[in-house]
Amino acid sequence: MPLGEFDLIARYFTRPTKRALLGVGDDCALLAPSAGQQLAVSSDLLVEGRHFLSTVPPPALGHKALAVNLSDLAACGATPLAFLLMLALPRIDEAFLRGFSEGLFALADAHDIELVGGDTTAGPLTVGITVLGEVPPAAALRRDGARAGDELWVSHPSDGGLGDARLALEVFRGQVELPGEGFARVRHAMERPQPRVALGIALRGVAHAAIDLSDGLAGDLGHLLARSRVGALLDWSALPRSAMLAAQPLPLQRQCVLAGGDDYELLFSAPPSAHAAVQRAAASAAVAVSRIGNVQAEAGLRVRWPDGSVSPWAARGFDHFAYEAQ
Ligand code: ADP
Ligand code: MG
Repeated sequence: MPLGEFDLIARYFTRPTKRALLGVGDDCALLAPSAGQQLAVSSDLLVEGRHFLSTVPPPALGHKALAVNLSDLAACGATPLAFLLMLALPRIDEAFLRGFSEGLFALADAHDIELVGGDTTAGPLTVGITVLGEVPPAAALRRDGARAGDELWVSHPSDGGLGDARLALEVFRGQVELPGEGFARVRHAMERPQPRVALGIALRGVAHAAIDLSDGLAGDLGHLLARSRVGALLDWSALPRSAMLAAQPLPLQRQCVLAGGDDYELLFSAPPSAHAAVQRAAASAAVAVSRIGNVQAEAGLRVRWPDGSVSPWAARGFDHFAYEAQ
């Protein structure tokens, strides 16, 4: 007997809930957020061939689907509570479901959150997640709080930087060759992003504005600048790069770091007076942060290059519909 829809949900996506009053199996889930907190809600949809390659190991897909959603909560400084999972599956493949749910629940357990519901249907492989979190009133980090004079900061792996996920994609596309060890590291960056949840929470009351990097630094910074009605100057030399990326030709480095995508790091602005507080927040979250530029009153994005010259840079990131139209 092939597994049916409800057996599938029971076998792979139902676990006893600890915090939710009612989880998977009823018409609604029931949650009890902490008194006086605001609810933070966000969704992300991942489509095969567009957001992930068909060759991705199922545990990595489970991890990444939840990680990109937790990254949005992190960017708001919210504490994750629970999540819902919307799955379209071309067929019931138990090896896939086993691996996918393992990767998913490993990250959920690491952040102490539970799956409380969702929907399952047949269709082209698509994974949607909605995360729920909470944040004290007026404490959420938003995109619209940056002010001229703020410093710009970005989080990154202590031995890495921005753009590694994009570099891995270029290797998969056959555009770049990397030695085995280097490829393993950038592939890890692409498949196993670590949402900066603890950093987001630690930055409450410290950062003026924040966004997570999903579509490339220039584009996501552009969103933050537009919402805050300011501009910025980035210092190319200060942008964190892994040894693998730093060994690549400069045009590729620029593309990966500025227009890459899939970094899932936090980009935030804070006043110079908060310098020590930012360092304390990063230390408490055990995440590296680098100061990469300044917020300016003049609109637009500019980059200072190592020879001291400054040039404008398009604040554009990855756009699915623009890509489709090419
Ligand atoms: P309904 O028809 O009332 O919308 P469903 O039959 O779609 O309910 O789902 C039954 C139960 O299983 C619900 O509690 C729903 O939240 C849960 N559920 C369905 N798909 C998933 C999934 N992929 N992950 C977690 N829970 C799921
Ligand atoms: Mg349903």
